Amino acid sequence: MTRTKTAEKELICILCPLGCKMIVSGVANSPEDLTFSGQQCKKGREYAYEEYTNPTRTLTSTVVINNAPLARLPVKTSKPLPKKLIYTAMEEINKVELTAPVKIGTVVIENLLNTGIDVVSTRSLG
Ligand code: SF4
Repeated sequence: MTRTKTAEKELICILCPLGCKMIVSGVANSPEDLTFSGQQCKKGREYAYEEYTNPTRTLTSTVVINNAPLARLPVKTSKPLPKKLIYTAMEEINKVELTAPVKIGTVVIENLLNTGIDVVSTRSLG
C-alpha cells in the first residue's frame, strides 16, 4: 500500500497592504499538485508557490572590522537567499574580518555558497 503525505501551510501575502491570508495545500514534494486559497490576485498565488517550494530571505548581519570607530560593520545579502542556507551562510559571514576603511556597497563575500549572491556592506566605516 502506498501512502500519500499531504501538507498544508498558512501564509500571509506581504506583496501589498491587503495582506491576504492564504492556505497552500497538496501533496508534499509535488509542487505541481498544490492548491491555493485565500489570495485575491495572481501575484499572491506566485508568492505562495515560491514561499512553499523555496522560501527565501534577505540576510542581514554584521562582520568584524578593525581600525574603525565601530567594532562591527553591517552587511546584507545582495538578493534573498534560500532559507535552508541561512545557517551555513551565517557561518561564512562570521569568518569575515575587515580593516577600515570600507565603503557602502563593498562586496564582503562574493558568490556566497555558490549561490551567485554576494554579501555587501550597508554603510561606510573608517
Ligand atoms: S494576494 Fe494579491 S491582493 Fe492579496 S495581499 Fe497578495 S498581492 Fe495583495
